[in-house]
Amino acid sequence: MSTLLLEIVTPERKVYAQEVNMVSVKGADGELGILPNHIPLVTPLRIAPVIVKKNGETEKIAVSGGFIEIRKDKVVILAESAELASDIDIARAEAAKKRAEERLAAKQSDIDTVRAELALQRALNRININK
Ligand code: ATP
Repeated sequence: MSTLLLEIVTPERKVYAQEVNMVSVKGADGELGILPNHIPLVTPLRIAPVIVKKNGETEKIAVSGGFIEIRKDKVVILAESAELASDIDIARAEAAKKRAEERLAAKQSDIDTVRAELALQRALNRININK
């Protein structure tokens, strides 16, 4: 089965670099299923899991926004943050979720509300990745 190289990079580190069979992401315009030889494309990503299929196994990586660049045999995800499911600290994500919900309940300024909503999305993405 043919493969493509998937790299997931954050400002801090390279989180992932492996030959995989398929990548599925949530782009700004909807879900994208990417196989080798996909047409070239650059698009923003939502806060959502990146799903990877490799040798019949499925792996999920929590990605918090950024961009995806698709080339014929390589996909690069430049993410604001990204964690492998096994690296996620669930207690930390639960605490972040609680903080964000409290901020949303407090009905602060619009800017604070947007920030809290994004923090909530990141926390839920991390919590749901292992479910
Ligand atoms: P927190 O409020 O807990 O810091 P956050 O959503 O504000 O959460 P980010 O700014 O997205 O955190 O990420 C900061 C760094 O911490 C990144 O390197 C990210 O991968 C890591 N990180 C954030 N939350 C978790 C978590 N629950 N488990 C593991 N790593 C995490």
